[in-house]
Parts: sequence; structure tokens; C-alpha cells
Amino acid sequence: MKYLKERKTVVAMARRIYEEKMVPGTWGNVSLKIKDQPLLLITPSGMEYETMTIEDIVLLGLDGEGVEGERIPSTEKRLHAGIYQQRADVGAIVHVHSNYASAFAVAGRSIPVILEETAQVIGHAIQVTPYVPCGTDELALQVVQTLGQGNAVLLANHGLVGVGGDLDQALTVCQVAEKTALVCILANSLGQVNELCQADINLLKKKFADYGQTPKTTDAGKTGKG
Ligand SMILES: [Zn+2]
Repeated sequence: MKYLKERKTVVAMARRIYEEKMVPGTWGNVSLKIKDQPLLLITPSGMEYETMTIEDIVLLGLDGEGVEGERIPSTEKRLHAGIYQQRADVGAIVHVHSNYASAFAVAGRSIPVILEETAQVIGHAIQVTPYVPCGTDELALQVVQTLGQGNAVLLANHGLVGVGGDLDQALTVCQVAEKTALVCILANSLGQVNELCQADINLLKKKFADYGQTPKTTDAGKTGKG
């Protein structure tokens, strides 16, 4: 079996979204692009996360058609394939049905940039697609269009999709989106939601790109940041 290491990371992430209660039952799905290949690995349709193994993960082409695997792939395979086709920078996709993001998806309201980590990790308000039933080609199209060059998108009356360079990044996007949705609802109950302005969002994004133990930009060491 090819791509053993990649399959393991997909199974581990699938378990994690279940254990973190971001999906009930067998809902949600996870995929990983195979580096430098027109291929992706995706979780199977309707299988329990707790007993899922690497053999259950399905290998697909970027057209969403099966290449290898015994299982039926996730019903949202076209949504995943569509994003990879559109975005060469995306290496992994996590789709969850978490509670607070779903509330915004039901209300048809975008999640605003209200926390510093929203600005840093996501960098934009999370827009909502028009309502389209799950598992359809039309939903895949609407998700690709509404996501654009962004990192997260809400699926009306359904859930949340986060993308990233790898699975950990895609999960972090979903976690930050979920927390932002919760805090927005709480702040609203206190009477006021103050959004960050675009200038501050840009500044926070830049600081985050330079953040951590290994500066990613050549002048990062000059910023004096801890
Ligand atoms: Zn879903």
C-alpha cells in the first residue's frame, strides 16, 4: 500500500475531530493532498472514526474519481477535489460540523474578525455559501467560489471547512473559527461586538508569519518580537 505515512496522518486527524467533538457520529471528513502528485487521500463515507484504519482511507485523483481503495470515499469528495484543483497552496482540508460555527451557518451570517488569532490564523471574515444540499456537485462549486483565496468557509445550514498547508494547519483554522464564533455570540450577548480593522488585521497577519522559534522572513529577527 502506498502513502502509509500520509494515511496515518489522515486517520489520526479524523479521530481527533471526533474526539474534540467537532463532529457527531460519522459526519465530517478529512483529506490530504499527496505532495507533487495529482492525488489526494480522503476519509471513507459513513465509517466510525474510532475503528477507522489506514486501509479504509481512499486514494482519489484530483477529478474526485477513485484510484485505489476498497471503501466508498466521503460523499463530499468533489468539494475536496475542487478546492485542491483551485488552490495549489492548499495541502489539507478539514470539514467539521462544530456547534458555534454551525450556528452562524444556520443564521446565514459570516463570522467576523474579532480576535487576534482570527486575524492571524484565518485573516478574513468567514463567508457563508448559499444553501445547497450536502454531497452535491453544486455544493462543491459554491464552496470553491465562496472560499476563494481564503482559509475557511461556512456551508449554509451544514458546517465549516478549513484549509491549510497541512492537516494541523487546517485543524487550527477550524478550531480558531469555532472559538471566534463562540466568542462572537458571547460578546453579542454583552451588547457589543468590536471588529478588528483591516490595518490591524494586516499587521497581525505579518506578526504571525514571523512568529515562533524559526523566523520565516529574512528580517524577522529585527522585529524585536518575543
Ligand atoms: Zn458535512
